[in-house]
Amino acid sequence: MSNSITHCISCGSDKLEKKRRGFPVTVHGTALKVPNIEFYTCSRCGETFLDLDNETKLDLYLKRRRTSAKSKRAINPRRAHARRASAD
Ligand SMILES: [Zn+2]
Repeated sequence: MSNSITHCISCGSDKLEKKRRGFPVTVHGTALKVPNIEFYTCSRCGETFLDLDNETKLDLYLKRRRTSAKSKRAINPRRAHARRASAD
C-alpha cells in the first residue's frame, strides 16, 4: 500500500494539508529549493514534512546536485523519514 502520511509527525494532528511545489531545504548552510516536491503541512503546529517517496526524490535531487559539484563527499545515510523545511 501507499505510505501516505495521515498524521502530523510532530503533534499527531490529522489536520494536514498536502502541497506540491518547490520545497525549501538548507544544505551545508546553503538554502535551496527542490522543485516539484509533494509535502504536508500541519495546520495545527505548522510542521512541514515529506512522505517517503518525496523524501527519496529530494535525496536524489540533492545527490545529483552534490555529484555535479566538484567535492566528493560521502553521501549521508538516509535520515528519519521526515525532514523539516526551513520555514520562513
Ligand atoms: Zn502538527
